Amino acid sequence: MSYFDYIRSDSWQRVRKEAMRKAKFRCQVCGTRTEKLCAHHNNYSNLGRERPEDLIILCSSCHQLFHDRLALAETKTKEALYA
Ligand SMILES: [Zn+2]
Ligand SMILES: [Zn+2]
Repeated sequence: MSYFDYIRSDSWQRVRKEAMRKAKFRCQVCGTRTEKLCAHHNNYSNLGRERPEDLIILCSSCHQLFHDRLALAETKTKEALYA
């Protein structure tokens, strides 16, 4: 399964919701409570069987910062496009 298929799958939706529930629906960087949370992948080595430390829940502004930093570190992954 490709990353793109996975991110649209039911199993990802479950992983994502569980991660958000654990984060108490707050951004794990700034603590903001918002509807627009993103489950950001810290790495892709466990895609489909993520461990809690593989994901971080971010609000849209912190998520943007993470991606800006990733871009600076020239780690341009698929994730920058899709999540
Ligand atoms: Zn935030
Ligand atoms: Zn992300």
